[in-house]
Amino acid sequence: MVNGTAALQIALQLAGVQPGDAVLVPTLPFAATANAVVYCGATPHFVDSEERTLGMDPGALCDYLSVACEIAGGRCVNRRSGRVVRALVPMHTFGHPADIEGLLGVARDYHLAMVEDAAESLGSTVGGKHTGTFGLVGVLSFNGNKTITTGGGGAILSNDVALARRAKHLTTTAKINHRWEYAHDQVGYNFRMPNLNAALGCAQLEQLPDFIVAKRRLYERYRDAFNCIKGVRVVSEPENAHSNYWLQALMLDEEFSAQRDEILTATNDAGLMTRPVWTLMHRLKHFADCPRMELTVAESIDRRLVNLPSSAFL
Ligand SMILES: *Cc1c(COP(=O)(O)O)cnc(C)c1O
Repeated sequence: MVNGTAALQIALQLAGVQPGDAVLVPTLPFAATANAVVYCGATPHFVDSEERTLGMDPGALCDYLSVACEIAGGRCVNRRSGRVVRALVPMHTFGHPADIEGLLGVARDYHLAMVEDAAESLGSTVGGKHTGTFGLVGVLSFNGNKTITTGGGGAILSNDVALARRAKHLTTTAKINHRWEYAHDQVGYNFRMPNLNAALGCAQLEQLPDFIVAKRRLYERYRDAFNCIKGVRVVSEPENAHSNYWLQALMLDEEFSAQRDEILTATNDAGLMTRPVWTLMHRLKHFADCPRMELTVAESIDRRLVNLPSSAFL
């Protein structure tokens, strides 16, 4: 597809997200995840992260849903707003797999469709299974900053052949197959990836294994370099998961969080491009009124995390 954001939009539509619904998304993501929900006419409902994975916390989410929502007519309904909470969109932050098994359990218990945002985690697996293949549908991005790129691009992953066909149909103007007639059976999108970009993608895919080896080696070098430094740790993959280490990150202990900006200033002054995590979604003014659970862990991570230069060529 033309990019990962468009792929998310269509994936949500295929998962049954309708105008007026709510969709559970992490507050610690990239804006595209919440934006795609809004493109569907639905409301993002923000979920907290766990420090171990940086992804959605299934335990905290389950506790929250048991109070905030009820199951009515086989649907999860927000008690306060009356909105149907239709889907859950875990994201594998910086390539590190979220607790996907735990989140699948929450999705099952609360009748939520799972759309996996695997935009950052191409090549990352859990128990040997690729991220983006656990839920009903998953999404990849091949943007210029991702592990492999097609310039701009994305993909929808699904094991459901009928759903994949609908995805293809919807993203290619919903044209009815015919030798010469041009007719469409619904409002479709022109979200196909141009052939030129796809050609680049074929060449990039061949390099993916080497890129991942290089990124994992870079992680080991950072880890060893910071090993003896008090108050920081390099973020590493959760147990039982294999990460592509798309973005390297340093986590400061809470007592040193006040020094984060000094670290950013000193490193950037020295020509090293470090940066803080993306602004949490619930703090953006256009999402400020969206429903949310307590977001204390994400807020703590936000104070303490510094992304490090991460290129496979470093
Ligand atoms: C990059 C990214 C996207 C969107 O991908 P684009 O191809 O840039 O549209 C979506 N979600 C997350 C978490 C991302 O990192």
